[in-house]
Amino acid sequence: MAMTRHVLIVAGSDSSGGAGVTRDVETIAALGLKSCVAVTAVTAQTHQSVEWIEYVPPGLVAAQMRAALAANSVSAIKIGMLGTTGVIAEAAAVLRDHPDIPVVLDPVLAASSGGTLIMEDAIAALRSHLMPLCRIVTPNLPELAVLTGSATPPDEACACRKGEELSRTVRTAVLVKGGHARGSEAVDLLVQPDRPALRFEAPRLPRKMRGTGCMLSSAIAASLALGASLEESVRNAKKFVFNTLANQSEISATWDDEQAAG
Ligand code: PLP
Repeated sequence: MAMTRHVLIVAGSDSSGGAGVTRDVETIAALGLKSCVAVTAVTAQTHQSVEWIEYVPPGLVAAQMRAALAANSVSAIKIGMLGTTGVIAEAAAVLRDHPDIPVVLDPVLAASSGGTLIMEDAIAALRSHLMPLCRIVTPNLPELAVLTGSATPPDEACACRKGEELSRTVRTAVLVKGGHARGSEAVDLLVQPDRPALRFEAPRLPRKMRGTGCMLSSAIAASLALGASLEESVRNAKKFVFNTLANQSEISATWDDEQAAG
């Protein structure tokens, strides 16, 4: 019996529906693939604050991943919020047993509300134990700053240099997301060891949005699962995220100032 292609999502839940597993499943379904999940944390969040986090025990995260991989034909893995060093170590151990499945890591450190989503001591583990096992890592500018121990890059040239530094250190491709920069275009930079950086542009949408990092990384994973190259996958994913957000006037990934105020 032919098995349907799946993307395994390893991520946290967000009760607001703005980000996390919900956003990942929606994205992967919209691209025609099935999902299976390993939940890493349960969070109580609104769009304005992170109110509670319960981290799932590392062994249970690994057990979910192994069961999902045993039950399905998994063609790509998307990883989001991991939270603790223990979960990172267990997830890395599972990935080492499946070296042929491409892994997309969104290195989630905090919600846009400001609430922290990872233990301080887990950031080094993310960099040294997990990133080298991934096909691509997708930091935004604040995440890139933390991961390289520097200030938020003030311009595109600096963002590119910092992306190259991270890519060299973790020996994998890095997509530096320019969503937090200024300007009419949102520019993402794909940096790969021993290759020139590639630029991907889309018009910047004048709205506050949540879950865009989850959507982009899930869309890259879905495209890799369908057999596209890394460059094609980034291009397809960026287009998909832009079109989805631009064509929806009222979705839970966006909220205007009036709603945010109260
Ligand atoms: N909450 C969870 C569980 C997430 O996985 C993420 C991002 O991946 C976030 C919150 C952060 O999303 P946002 O930046 O949209 O707040």
